[in-house]
Amino acid sequence: MDFSLSIEQQLIKQNIIQFAQNELNQNIIERDKISEFPRELWKKCGSQKLQGLAVSEKFGGAGLNAQSTIIALEALGYGCKDGGLNFSICAHLLACIIPIWKYGSEEQKQRYLPDLCNGTKIAVNAMTETESGSDVFNIKTSAKKYKDGYLINGVKAFSSNGPVADNILVYAITDESKGFHGGITAFLLNKNTAGFKVGQQYEKMGLRTCTISELIFENVFIPESDILGGIGAGAPIFNYSMEWERIGIAACHVGTMDRILEETIDYAQKRNIGQQAIGKNQAVAHRIASMKTQLEASRLLTYKAAWNIDSKINNAIDASITKLFVSEVVTSVAYESMQIYGGNGYMTAFEIERTLRDAIGSTIYSGTTDIQKNIIARWLGL
Ligand SMILES: Cc1cc2nc3c(=O)[nH]c(=O)nc-3n(C[C@H](O)[C@H](O)[C@H](O)COP(=O)(O)OP(=O)(O)OC[C@H]3O[C@@H](n4cnc5c(N)ncnc54)[C@H](O)[C@@H]3O)c2cc1C
Repeated sequence: MDFSLSIEQQLIKQNIIQFAQNELNQNIIERDKISEFPRELWKKCGSQKLQGLAVSEKFGGAGLNAQSTIIALEALGYGCKDGGLNFSICAHLLACIIPIWKYGSEEQKQRYLPDLCNGTKIAVNAMTETESGSDVFNIKTSAKKYKDGYLINGVKAFSSNGPVADNILVYAITDESKGFHGGITAFLLNKNTAGFKVGQQYEKMGLRTCTISELIFENVFIPESDILGGIGAGAPIFNYSMEWERIGIAACHVGTMDRILEETIDYAQKRNIGQQAIGKNQAVAHRIASMKTQLEASRLLTYKAAWNIDSKINNAIDASITKLFVSEVVTSVAYESMQIYGGNGYMTAFEIERTLRDAIGSTIYSGTTDIQKNIIARWLGL
């Protein structure tokens, strides 16, 4: 077992941290306040191939394996303080690009991937509906055969990148009698397709620079050439994308926790109360020791799950364990850090309250904490 990073991985990490620190951290407080998606920064990220980390170079990506992709996302989470932008990139890469790259035809990959990898275009993954979030088996959006394609009808909820997306990956029922496994199909379309529109945009607690909305489909015609992975292949495509998403976003959180920890230690060493640094109080030092332990455990889980992908080992249980643990821990690390900052931590200017608001969403998206426990229990035969 070797836990060290290769020279190439160290360089990837250093370069992304440097890029993110230099280019992505201006005006975050302001754009968080007004929930503004930073399109110019998105393009800059595209110039670094951040949106196409795992995709082969032939289709415009960076050609990294899963372990190096995860190290790159960790570096992004460390260097970039804009949790919304990090989340936008992850949702786009892990739940949209990776499914196209893995399940798309050669022609679909040529048509969609280069612009999605280089920051020209933005993608959204649309599965959730108002009556089916945790219960994804219960979606109502339908796709009925029509001429040489399908007509899609339905409304999707909570679609990250929805208001700004150019390409949509939408899941719809093609055969109700088969249920989720075999009855659901993934379709690709672009935002100008007749009958498609963006619905209400949601205001939300955190991740505010990643805009999120409903997506409305009214008799949207999709030709057979834009079916992803074949009729009825929606379930394995969705599950595969969720495994990547659960691990990839966790990697970003590992980077974020690493940064918060460093900043919190620095604060605890410099803030003097009662003639000594607050870090000299065991209560404060113990909080920080727990944060460090949680960070290191998160990193190991994330690296192992990425290694599973590269080793082609069934990853469902490890992806859920990683997601469950890291999403709870990043929330707790941000909360503990806020406590150590005291009143300053509650104030916007210190940026820790935003990190906490951003972190909380992670216990809900990509399947809630309860749902991860259900998945883990199922794999244990319960
Ligand atoms: C910031 C954010 C971004 C998102 N981005 C996207 C996106 O890009 N695309 C997309 O398709 N979706 C997206 N979602 C939707 C997300 O996947 C769902 O919100 C999530 O799966 C939970 O579904 P729900 O909101 O309907 O909650 P519900 O399913 O109503 O759950 C409510 C509560 O009941 C619990 N619960 C429900 N069923 C069970 C059960 N069987 N066992 C135990 N507990 C249960 C849940 O754990 C939760 O605590 C996003 C959500 C958020 C918050």
